[in-house]
Amino acid sequence: MATAVELQNVVKSYGNLQVIHGVNLTIDPGEFTVFVGPSGCGKSTLLRMIAGLEAISDGDLLIDGERMNAVTPSERGIAMVFQSYALYPHMSVYKNLAFGLETARLPRAEIAKRVQRAAEILQIEPLLNRKPKQLSGGQRQRVAIGRAIVREPKIFLFDEPLSNLDAELRVQMRVEIAKLQQRLGNTTIYVTHDQVEAMTMADKIVVLRDGRIEQVGAPLDLYNHPRNLFVAGFIGSPK
Ligand code: ADP
Ligand code: MG
Repeated sequence: MATAVELQNVVKSYGNLQVIHGVNLTIDPGEFTVFVGPSGCGKSTLLRMIAGLEAISDGDLLIDGERMNAVTPSERGIAMVFQSYALYPHMSVYKNLAFGLETARLPRAEIAKRVQRAAEILQIEPLLNRKPKQLSGGQRQRVAIGRAIVREPKIFLFDEPLSNLDAELRVQMRVEIAKLQQRLGNTTIYVTHDQVEAMTMADKIVVLRDGRIEQVGAPLDLYNHPRNLFVAGFIGSPK
């Protein structure tokens, strides 16, 4: 079986400034991978290149074994959830969920079916007629995730989706996202700078530092066998 996502010597430069320095990584189908590392280490840049929102300066990106470097975002089978949910304020929750599908000209009945299913999965059915401003932070985040689900992507990308939520809600949403992934079985890449999120959610953790991969492994591998003090510090291993 082909790998779901493969980065081969991926480099990113902004002008003269190289920020990703030749990253190699393979992600298997259905795997929940967490990118973790300090602010500015390149987590979002990697995610945006995988999504196609940012061009790759050098190297190759493969999805399901096919080279994606020049493929447009909408043709990659990927949906991304951001930290700022950016819901359309004047539209109902239903319309927020349906809008992208309407733009893609899906049949009305298919749109209704997908919105209903996403609303059921996320338990936001009672909220479908509300406007975003009538929702709590956690409810808004669910709607943002719903917008990704209705697209029925092969791959979910999350960029620090919980960092605007308070601690209690973060814990709750963490559990929900993990359950969602188990239920849908999608390949997922989840970016966070939060060690606890990384340790509790990941099948595989990728520790990044200054645009390079410092170490890749299952949470307990990294915890028990950190390669160096940086990884140990980040994962919270005893020193
Ligand atoms: P993270 O998500 O891990 O906090 P980013 O991927 O946002 O890190 O950023 C990685 C590096 O790339 C940082 O040094 C950042 O300043 C730089 N960077 C990100 N986007 C741009 C841009 N559009 N132009 C120039 N530099 C950028
Ligand atoms: Mg970021």
